[in-house]
Amino acid sequence: MNLSELLAYQSRKYPEKEGIVTPEERMTYQEWNSQVNQFARGLMRSGIQAGDKVIIHMPNTKEFVISYFAIHRLGAIVVPINARLVLNEITYIYDHSDAVALLTHDLLIDQVRGLADEREGTFIKTGKADGAWQSFSEILAKEEPLEMVNEAHEDEEASILYTSGTTGQPKGVVFTHKNILTVSSMMAVELEMKPTSRMLHMMPFSHSAPLHLFLAGGTFVGATHIIAPTFTPDLLLELASSERASHFFGAPVAYLMTAKHPQVKETDLSWVKYWTYGGAPLSKKEVQFVREQFETDSLCCLYGLTEAGPSGTLLLPQEHDEKAGSVGKRAALHCEMRVVDENGREVGNGQVGEIALKGEGIMKGYYKDEEKTAATFRDGWLLTGDMGEKDEDGYLWVIDRKKDMIISGGVNIYPREVEELLLQHPHIEDVAVVGVPHPDWGETVKAHIVQTGQMTDMENECRLFLQEHLADYKIPKLYEEMDELPRNATGKLLKHRLREQARQA
Ligand code: ATP
Repeated sequence: MNLSELLAYQSRKYPEKEGIVTPEERMTYQEWNSQVNQFARGLMRSGIQAGDKVIIHMPNTKEFVISYFAIHRLGAIVVPINARLVLNEITYIYDHSDAVALLTHDLLIDQVRGLADEREGTFIKTGKADGAWQSFSEILAKEEPLEMVNEAHEDEEASILYTSGTTGQPKGVVFTHKNILTVSSMMAVELEMKPTSRMLHMMPFSHSAPLHLFLAGGTFVGATHIIAPTFTPDLLLELASSERASHFFGAPVAYLMTAKHPQVKETDLSWVKYWTYGGAPLSKKEVQFVREQFETDSLCCLYGLTEAGPSGTLLLPQEHDEKAGSVGKRAALHCEMRVVDENGREVGNGQVGEIALKGEGIMKGYYKDEEKTAATFRDGWLLTGDMGEKDEDGYLWVIDRKKDMIISGGVNIYPREVEELLLQHPHIEDVAVVGVPHPDWGETVKAHIVQTGQMTDMENECRLFLQEHLADYKIPKLYEEMDELPRNATGKLLKHRLREQARQA
């Protein structure tokens, strides 16, 4: 059993039902499934076989969705990568994943054209054929839509997702068909997805939450997918109301931007039953702001990481009054959660430890990296690399990443606590706090600050501001003003770059 078989099943059950809605067209489940068969045949004719790795380098489009299911239908392995990656990053993944083919979009061809000159493989793009690049639509047009059957076993590898690399070089996270079926079906139950649901997709399908929880989860139940190529607050408001979306997933920043939109209160957003967010924290204050602006009590928090498929825990809408800012009390279905000490023993409520997860949705391992895989699992538990604490009611609060923790004079400092405070300063726009080497203390705390230009003595102002709220040892000793902070394609902070810079200085 695999996801592609489920699509075929849904297309028999709901042939005339809207499957995919894009700005250009509306496609039924039957049309979608037929094109999946045609494209799978085309890939097969190009020599792609079961077990081959095929990269999808596309924005959220119907071609992405058709390719994803077609590759699975062949029993080949999907490697979806972020559309904003540049040639050297793409080449790294092409080589590391042992890919034999890459599919891209006409709009992105300049980012990746050079790959076909330097590497062997099958190269396909949307739009017209061009040199080594075959045309997606021409391949499709040549093939019959006859049903193909994928005999891949559920324990076979289905996809490799490269983590965005905020903690270093991207790692290839391998999922089996069973992993994907587990997380997608589980999320469909958790978020009450139904055949009448309308999933609004604006976050890149190259990431595990949009792909496994929402695209796969929605397909699991035969829902309609409304696919936008990108996110803007305007588009979110427009599509959520005109398409009567029932489910949306977005990074916290997407919610904060939309909450400031002048039309947010005038837009009818009442169709949305689950406004889900995750991938980064949303503080209690921010949750309140979004709930007020969206006039909703349907915010739902997901905590997890790519390696977990990604879902780990949920904070349900009804828990937001009491526990906003936490990531919930309960692990998602098919998953268990614990906070553990250095020896893997569970710690009590009120004690800080590493968050560990266990379940059938969790990755098989890192591609070609047994050492890292072995170091990430302990007794079957995935060590998330996140430090957390359960409160007296058992609700989990993510404190920070273990790798970002600063140890100064033997004391642990969590940068996120300092950053959250600094962000409350009216003249600070963005901030990153890291530990940098210090001859006596081991590490010392350094703040990188993007300010509005209204602070003349930034260092002093920051110190005075923090002194009211924070123990002395946590207050940054070093400050650097920056025009912007280094972020990856999805907007996550690249703290390792800041640490490297400090080491070289
Ligand atoms: P890399 O693993 O290479 O650093 P990445 O940061 O992009 O890349 P992801 O799997 O996308 O990896 O991010 C997962 C991390 O995001 C978690 O480990 C956690 O630190 C953070 N995170 C996810 N959801 C939440 C949440 N709801 N609240 C707080 N933090 C979250």
